[in-house]
Amino acid sequence: MAKLLLKNLPISGKKVLMRVDFNVPLDSKGQIADDTRIRLSLPSIEYILNQGAALILISHLGRPDGKTTSLSLEPCAKRLSNLLNKEVMFANDCIGPSIKTMTEKLQPGAILLLENLRFHKEEEHPNKDFAFAKSLASLADVYVNDAFGAAHRAHSSIAAITHYFPHKAAMGFLMEKEISFLKETFEHPKRPFYAVLGGAKISSKLGVFNSLLSKVDGLFIGGGMSYTFAKALGFKIGNSICDNSLLPLAHTFLENAKKNHIPYYLPVDHIIAKTFENTAHSKISSTKEGIPEGWMGMDIGPQTLKTWSQELQKAATVFWNGPLGVFEFSHFTTGTFGIAKILAISKAITIIGGGDSISAINSLELQNSFTHISSGGGASLELIEYGHLPGIDALSEV
Ligand code: AMP
Repeated sequence: MAKLLLKNLPISGKKVLMRVDFNVPLDSKGQIADDTRIRLSLPSIEYILNQGAALILISHLGRPDGKTTSLSLEPCAKRLSNLLNKEVMFANDCIGPSIKTMTEKLQPGAILLLENLRFHKEEEHPNKDFAFAKSLASLADVYVNDAFGAAHRAHSSIAAITHYFPHKAAMGFLMEKEISFLKETFEHPKRPFYAVLGGAKISSKLGVFNSLLSKVDGLFIGGGMSYTFAKALGFKIGNSICDNSLLPLAHTFLENAKKNHIPYYLPVDHIIAKTFENTAHSKISSTKEGIPEGWMGMDIGPQTLKTWSQELQKAATVFWNGPLGVFEFSHFTTGTFGIAKILAISKAITIIGGGDSISAINSLELQNSFTHISSGGGASLELIEYGHLPGIDALSEV
């Protein structure tokens, strides 16, 4: 069944509650380091305001354990105000009598951002009676979800809340664009279709690895997670990051890839260091000779980058999620930046997901060189793994 879309939701003169993803990265001073996610929500925001509706925005930011002023959404209200060149009101909570009064007074064309939803633990852990979701819902006439980056979470503001908006819970423009592009690509990819996966945590990605086996024509595995696979194959990985509890599963996965004739590429060499620091002394080591004890893999090596670059040139579609090294350290960016540059000039359909890969692309100013930059790393992976997302399932059907 098709889901209700924002463009088909009557909103003129109404109060619209829109879940957005303003979970922006912050720098060490707590300033917004990258406002891509705020910018991506502008088409839905501008449309709603132009339709003569009053707009109430809700979002989470980070993982506050209780109320943490450093994770207030107030800087996002200021940034949105600058981007829209229009006043954006800010409320220092998201539920309660004073918030209700503020929303009641909201005039058509006005916009109000509520404080971080996760300052209430009920956001991530919906209470049995859905009281938190109900309070949020009481603020508006209709609901829109444009937070693709959070659509894989069955949280109060994403799933439970839609119970209170029967036939009035719609998909925003960003969500619509993400879902239609990603679903189409994963269901009917132009082949060969390759996936490049990196990052540190293998635990959150093993499920997606298994689903990818039935979809892709080749897999490139780099970053910290590649060391669990390397160890599972019997290579020495020194002090590299490794999830020992997942060694059997990693091994089974590689066996399955072989059985299914899906070629996989693990790094054949590495940039290794003795300490986890930018200025650490580093050298190149091959997978075959093994990483010595006391050293750890920090980035893919030059031979890996060369081989992968050649192979990736054969692709018609590439999906990339996760950095291939500790790219936050300037001395260990070569692999991640190298693959970003190769994909940027590729003729293939290129899809990038995940905050780290996007921030690598932004720092190289290559934003316009990819077919699709997904605002949701985890959400795009779960869409591949399960084929649907709680945030979409919860919306009204038409
Ligand atoms: P994830 O949250 O699992 O997507 O992982 C992202 C993180 O992986 C980034 O902060 C990278 O610094 C980190 N990372 C990438 N390669 C390595 C590596 N070889 N060793 C440790 N961390 C890594």
